[in-house]
Amino acid sequence: MNPFSYTRAGSVESACQAAAGNGGAKFVAGGTTLVDLLKLNVERPSALIDINGVGLGEIEETPGGGLRIGAMARNSQVAADGRVKEKYPVLTEALLSGASPQLRHMATVGGNLLQRTRCPYFRDGYSACNKRQPGTGCAALAGFNRSHAVLGGSEQCIATFPGDMPVALTALEAVIHTRKTDGTESATPIGDFYISDGDDPARETVLGRGELITAVELPGTDWLRRSVYVKARDRESFNFALASAAVALDVRGNRIESARIALGGVGTKPWRSHLAEEAIAGTEPIAAVYEAVAEAALRDAHPAKHNGFKVELARRTLARALQLASAKRV
Ligand code: SF4
Repeated sequence: MNPFSYTRAGSVESACQAAAGNGGAKFVAGGTTLVDLLKLNVERPSALIDINGVGLGEIEETPGGGLRIGAMARNSQVAADGRVKEKYPVLTEALLSGASPQLRHMATVGGNLLQRTRCPYFRDGYSACNKRQPGTGCAALAGFNRSHAVLGGSEQCIATFPGDMPVALTALEAVIHTRKTDGTESATPIGDFYISDGDDPARETVLGRGELITAVELPGTDWLRRSVYVKARDRESFNFALASAAVALDVRGNRIESARIALGGVGTKPWRSHLAEEAIAGTEPIAAVYEAVAEAALRDAHPAKHNGFKVELARRTLARALQLASAKRV
């Protein structure tokens, strides 16, 4: 493991200031991803800035009827929040499907947005990997790629984004609030937050160096109550998604006016499916529609040698999520 310095920040301002002076610094909160990757020598920061003392743990209602979730709120805290359960069940379900109870007590909302891929070649520390060491190639392209992405991949990288909560946040059109090292604040729709692996797989989000996530804001849209998260995985107790679907439906009478649909486990980032949303708008909530919508969602899939099964699995997972959401009493 590389030597690094360790400091505890007492405020958002001091955390950002500490990061401003050190290009190799990383923030650490729950440490549920970062500590693993430090031990594997994949992450090699020159400094760790512990942000557990900066506050940002509140969940507050916004004037528009939404919620603002502090970046340091723990996953278990958000999952247990009655307002989240009532207004955004897809988020509660995604949180409870992720990791183990112990990990959910440690993991924070801000850190959860920045989970890194579980690609074994990225984590082994020695294989060719453009994400870990740009320009070295991608061992997964010709290697064992069962867990890899079928949407958004490139000749540089086909790594899957591993998270659940960010998939739900994508379907909810969350906004990510951040603070930069110069003190300016910004708000980025989650759809613009992730960068799909392309020419530079090492760059995963639009965050600048030393920029700190401070909160996630959810809209006050009433029909997001009709939302679900469905996850398929190898082992039910806890595991990463092979395919997952976050769905919210605006149903009026016997017509689906519109929908928000995001997929997990199959894309290089939390995958908003505009193709599926276009296919479902104005239709009836019936099984034939869900199958057609799921077909549209995976139309652009490009499986590799070992992950072709994910295409059909993702279709079925999405069709199931649409069925559950439309049957939901709200
Ligand atoms: Fe690295 Fe991406 Fe290839 Fe995995 S898929 S080896 S993370 S470049």
